[in-house]
Parts: sequence; structure tokens; C-alpha cells
Amino acid sequence: ASALTFEQVTARYAPGAATALQDVSLEIPRIGHTAIVGPSGAGKTTMFSLLLRFLNPESGRLVLDGIPLNEWSLEDLRRRIVYVEQDTPLVPGTLRENLRYTHQDATEETLWEALRAVRLDERVHELPEGLDTVLSTAVISGGERQRIALARALVSTPEILLLDEATAQLDGLTEAAVHDVIARVARTGAVLTIAHRLSTVIDADQIVVLESGAVRARGTHTQLLSTD
Ligand code: ADP
Ligand code: ADP
Repeated sequence: ASALTFEQVTARYAPGAATALQDVSLEIPRIGHTAIVGPSGAGKTTMFSLLLRFLNPESGRLVLDGIPLNEWSLEDLRRRIVYVEQDTPLVPGTLRENLRYTHQDATEETLWEALRAVRLDERVHELPEGLDTVLSTAVISGGERQRIALARALVSTPEILLLDEATAQLDGLTEAAVHDVIARVARTGAVLTIAHRLSTVIDADQIVVLESGAVRARGTHTQLLSTD
């Protein structure tokens, strides 16, 4: 069964502007990892914008669990579809508050499990205030901030995780964390990545190749190589 479907979706940012997506139909399975690849301007980010309802389709529709996306309340939608962008802002406050942001009653065990997955557990043990450390750029680096955003997504156990892999060079730990988070969430839910790394594409269950707003090819890495 599909969690999410794009049904002949066409989108543009302004009347008269070129279409950012043109007649895209796509099924995203309930479980597993779908990687979206394609050149700059292909429409990858637009797919995310539609899923988050930052943008409405001009024609066609998106359907989540059999219900058109525009009929969901935003509150329910934000619980089901979690987005980790390239530079996810942290909320002012402590590490614990950040990790619990979308899941207030997460247990300590869950928080540490998520921190282990993103390779931050040892680092947090070293901080004088541990989980109660107030986050600031003086305390954490950019890569660590990205890993906190990933840990927060893990804590909320999303049904659908949207992940825009940073195009900038990630440090090794952050790259490993991204990989691990994708694998973990994809065991119980759907992960949709804008993929920039070959390793991510190779490991994906489904690759969608976008070009000029249209789906040019779809399949596993092996399938795409053999039909090229
Ligand atoms: P994505 O595939 O995630 O949508 P893009 O392929 O559009 O990203 O862009 C790749 C990188 O190049 C991003 O970090 C983006 O900020 C940067 N970039 C895109 N377009 C421009 C531009 N016209 N000038 C400078 N940087 C750009
Ligand atoms: P990608 O993420 O694959 O780089 P985008 O989805 O960002 O591609 O862009 C698809 C098309 O929509 C491009 O032609 C781009 O110029 C256009 N576009 C993207 N964002 C905007 C925007 N905010 N306003 C107007 N046009 C946009």
C-alpha cells in the first residue's frame, strides 16, 4: 500500500510562470526509502513544498492514507510528515527541550537512543550540563546542530520523513548519522530524500529521477543502470 501518492500534479509558483512540476504521478510506499535525484531546478524542492503544503498544486492532487492532502489539518500533517532541512533551526533552550520539541513525553531512554544514532551521545556526556545544556553556536558546531535536528526527527518517529541532504560537505560523523537515521526510519515508515550522495542513492529502495519538472525514470539503482 502507498502512504502517499502524487496524482498528475502540476505546480507553478506564479500565474504565467513556467511549471515547476508538470503532470507528476508517483507512489511512495508506506515503508522504505525513496531518493529523489535530478539537476538543479528539476523540481525536487517543489515536491517537498507540496508535501508540506507550503505550496498548493495548480492541478492534480496529493493523497495521504487515502485522504487528499488539503483535507488534513496542518496539525495532523505536521505530526505525520516531518521535514529536516539543510539548516534546520533549533529552538531557543536546552538540548532536552529541542529533542522533545515535537514529542513532549519522550522518555530519557528514547532521547539517548536518538543521540546514539546520530553519534552525539559521547559529546553530550562531555557537556557540563548534559541534556540541560542551553544550545548556542558557542556550544555546538553546524554539523552537530544538523545531528540534533536528525535526533529530534528520530524521537518523533515520523510516518514520513523528508530529508534534504545538505549539498555542503558534511563531516564524517554527520554523514554517518544521516545514513543511520534514513535506515532506522525506513524500517517502520517512509523516508523521502533529496539525495546528493551516491551512497544514499545506491541504498534507496526506489530512485526517482526528476528532470524539468517531470519524472524521467523510476526504479532501484540496478534497474536504472540496466535500462539506461
Ligand atoms: P537542491 O538539489 O537541494 O534543490 P540545488 O541543486 O538547487 O539544491 O543547489 C545546490 C547548491 O547550490 C545549494 O547549496 C544552493 O544553495 C546552491 N545554489 C543553487 N543555485 C545557486 C545559484 N544560482 N547561485 C549560487 N548558489 C546556488
Ligand atoms: P530543485 O529543488 O530540483 O533544484 P526546485 O523545485 O527548487 O528545483 O525548482 C523547480 C523550478 O521552480 C525551477 O524552475 C525554479 O526556478 C522554480 N522555483 C523554485 N522555487 C521558486 C520560487 N520560490 N519562486 C519562483 N520559482 C521558483
